[in-house]
Amino acid sequence: MPKYVFLFEEGNKDMRDLLGGKGAGLAEMSRLGLPVPPGFTITTRACNFYAKNQRFPPGLEKQMRETLAAVEGKAGRKFGDTANPLLLSVRSGAKFSMPGMMDTILNVGVNEATVQALASLSGDERFAWDAYRRLIQMYGRIVMHIEGAKFDRILEAWKAKTEGGRDTDLTAEILKSIVSEYKSLYRAETNSDFPQKPYDQLRQAVVAVFGSWTGKRAMDYRNFHGIPHDLGTAANVQTMVFGNLGGNSGTGVAFTRDPATGAKGLYAEYLPQAQGEDVVAGIRTPLRMEALRDAMPDIYAELEGVAAKLESHYRDMQDIEFTVERGQFWVLQTRTGKRTAQAAIRIAADMVKEGRISKDEALLRIEPAQVVELLMPRFRPSDKEAAKRSGKFLGKGVNASPGAAAGPAVLDSDLAETLGSKRFRAIESRDPSSSVEQTVDAAKTELQGATGLPWISRLGPEAFVIKTNDGRWVESEQYREILAVGGRERAVELRLKVVLTRTETSPEDVHGMLHAKGILTARGGATAHASVVARGLGLPCVVGCEALKVDYEGATFSLGDQSFAQGDLVSIDGATGEVFGGLIPAVEPDFEKEEELRTILGWADETASPFMVWANADYPRDARNALTFGARGIGLCRTEHMFFETERLPIVHDMILSAVAARGKQPEAHARYLAALARLETFQKSDFEGIFRAMAGLPVVIRLIDPPLHEFLPKHEDLLVELMELRRTGGDTKVIAEKEAMLAAVEATREANPMLGLRGCRLGITYPEITEMQVRAIFQAAVQVKREGVDVHPEIMIPLVGHVNELRNQREALEAVAKHVMESEGLAVDYKFGTMIEVPRAALTADEIAKYSEFFSFGTNDLTQMTFGYSRDDAEGKFLMKYVEDGILPYNPFQTLDGIPGKGEEPRGVAKLMEIAVERGRKAKPDLKIGICGEHGGDPPSIAFCHRLGLNYVSCSPFRVPIARLAAGRTVAGLRTTVARDK
Ligand code: ADP
Ligand code: MG
Ligand code: MG
Repeated sequence: MPKYVFLFEEGNKDMRDLLGGKGAGLAEMSRLGLPVPPGFTITTRACNFYAKNQRFPPGLEKQMRETLAAVEGKAGRKFGDTANPLLLSVRSGAKFSMPGMMDTILNVGVNEATVQALASLSGDERFAWDAYRRLIQMYGRIVMHIEGAKFDRILEAWKAKTEGGRDTDLTAEILKSIVSEYKSLYRAETNSDFPQKPYDQLRQAVVAVFGSWTGKRAMDYRNFHGIPHDLGTAANVQTMVFGNLGGNSGTGVAFTRDPATGAKGLYAEYLPQAQGEDVVAGIRTPLRMEALRDAMPDIYAELEGVAAKLESHYRDMQDIEFTVERGQFWVLQTRTGKRTAQAAIRIAADMVKEGRISKDEALLRIEPAQVVELLMPRFRPSDKEAAKRSGKFLGKGVNASPGAAAGPAVLDSDLAETLGSKRFRAIESRDPSSSVEQTVDAAKTELQGATGLPWISRLGPEAFVIKTNDGRWVESEQYREILAVGGRERAVELRLKVVLTRTETSPEDVHGMLHAKGILTARGGATAHASVVARGLGLPCVVGCEALKVDYEGATFSLGDQSFAQGDLVSIDGATGEVFGGLIPAVEPDFEKEEELRTILGWADETASPFMVWANADYPRDARNALTFGARGIGLCRTEHMFFETERLPIVHDMILSAVAARGKQPEAHARYLAALARLETFQKSDFEGIFRAMAGLPVVIRLIDPPLHEFLPKHEDLLVELMELRRTGGDTKVIAEKEAMLAAVEATREANPMLGLRGCRLGITYPEITEMQVRAIFQAAVQVKREGVDVHPEIMIPLVGHVNELRNQREALEAVAKHVMESEGLAVDYKFGTMIEVPRAALTADEIAKYSEFFSFGTNDLTQMTFGYSRDDAEGKFLMKYVEDGILPYNPFQTLDGIPGKGEEPRGVAKLMEIAVERGRKAKPDLKIGICGEHGGDPPSIAFCHRLGLNYVSCSPFRVPIARLAAGRTVAGLRTTVARDK
């Protein structure tokens, strides 16, 4: 028969699978000789048996009784004894900590008889009856599923009758009345009396803990964090110790370093006269540690000692629960402390410097998501000052999790979920003035339909964040700028920036928190539920904001003396705890000031080397950004973006019109065509000079024109309407003639399926003058910049090659142009020609293609489109998300490369095509340089796969470069270290 029950002393820290994280921690601390109240752990295996069979495994109860006897011996009390009763806590604890998700029942063993014994033993009647009422409340809620609010209402009503109105103001007499009302409630709700047999209480509590593993909120949490559902939870049964036994008692939570900033030194909160659950629930706002140091210096010193010991032992920042019972110090839990991104980075950097961990471990301890978080928006100090001057600063709470959030306040978690979850909207218009509004309006209509809330229609674009197709979440203002310069940008997701605003949060709010941009609560401290969950999610969070009063029924709230309704805008600063009415714009942080992050990313680069991170940048401004973020080259410079700028677009139009006409054998059109190209050449040359200067010494991969020509032209329908209007109103004949010519060009270039039409290298082959012009501009710029003393390395990338002859045609024509420029300028520059691998046929024939390429760059967006036969816009707009929801696809292949293999598995799909291309390409040309320039280049699992394939670099948008650098470093570190990971 398996061993289902382990005394704490029988386990150790490596038994997390069987004992859960909490059980393994209790075991390890007991072994270290720390003051842990005695107890035992029932294994996850027992939980899994229970989950399957709805009953305990045979033998478990016997083991429990035997082990309980051993605990009674250690504690010197007996469970259920009417003279000297032992009370127990029954605590859940899975392998990975799921803070606030799972249930714990305290004071198991109190009944009508033992409550009397407790009172006389402790000499504190109040305490005994408080223990009883807590048990009925917790047991009723967790075991019998009685709505917690029903108990709260009874308690609050009694509290209101006392003078102070606090839980500590309840007298023994009042508590007796509460117990009696609780018992009636219990009877009314369950048709049975509150169980008096201690062992029944214990058994049912264990059942409830096992049951909480499969509860909805635990399932949601695991789904969100990717924790497997078959791990099960352990149940820890432990001797109760009491922080509510008079003045020299209390309870608290301590972090061995500051979980918000990572600063060294104990960071703790302490509640005198309380049980641990009071801190966690955020019922009272706890005192800072100084209060404990002053009141009980010896206890403080003991806590410091235990904290130091645990941190050195675990070699990581620990989150410790402790209780002081009448001057005796007890440790109740230790776990790897959750921390903000800022703290994670600072602690990892400090611990390397302190010689506690290696650089590899430091890299493995930081999640790419934390780098994302650190690069989150913040409020500008000047904006906050202005808000303060205009009376919008309305309160201050505890700065529980950093980052700035501003948006409509939503008081209900279901609503927060609805409003804050994804909306997919493809922007079709390229008109910069209307697109943002159009997109937002579409989302608003949808939200209005889903909720029927009148205030939705009043929201402006500033209440939304927009995700662009390079994976960035941007504010509407930024989005407008993006649209203004590059017409191919497209919003893929919109979210309402909900600030979940509540008195406090509980596990029932997690689904709303997941979809909020920020959390604001009136109660609780840095270790309250809201704080812990927000930090885990990387959400800005302010708790304990006493100026906040929420009226759920009226759907209104007030901050100080100002009243608001749900949907009104609020702004919170999670780094300082400040709360404002109205909306303060959030701004990007300053990467250059993030010292520790830059140190760690430097280690990541060293670790990953020679594997590198490059960036996709179309403008000198982007290139400079990319360099700041640590890119080692430009992996994709898209030349067509340059064509979209306002002053150039008319020339581009002219070029296309005359190109089309010239092919129709109109000789004067040919001259116009060349003239337009010559003008564009001047623009392009200066663009390239800017990029070369910015990237001095580093390679720049320039992709020749890629999109079909009609993308540069007005829309067919728009032109038709305009023409009809002009004719009807008798417009200027010259204008009409121009529009007619434009319409003819649009019709001539229009395609049934542009994605598969005349684009990429097919354009250069059809209109050789265009790509020749581009190459001339590139080499003239390179020569020019080199003359100035700047080291240049242009790499010309020919897109959309499917057959080697396409590449050969373009390469031969274009290299001739390059050589001609260098010869006539009398200066040679270092250059390469290469191609994108984005058509499956190119991947399959990579050996032939490599003969005409010095480099390959995987264009995985097109490669994914063509491998699946999806057009991305249509797929993401119409069915792809459903595919992912229904499990037809495991994830969105436009975000993470399709077919990435697990350990020891073969790649499939897109990943397999990449593997083939690398193998065949390098076979033909061993020193072939290979990179990736699709969005996947910034996605951590895809980066790991690219490294495994032996690519030389990944290239992603500048903003993702820090994340990609960390991911690259972690990939290599992970290959040579195995570190126990906590979730
Ligand atoms: P969680 O996993 O949510 O932190 P815990 O099992 O740690 O849940 O318990 C909830 C609260 O009850 C904590 O504050 C903890 O310190 C307290 N607690 C648990 N067991 C005991 C005990 N034996 N004596 C006193 N307090 C306890
Ligand atoms: Mg705990
Ligand atoms: Mg492409």
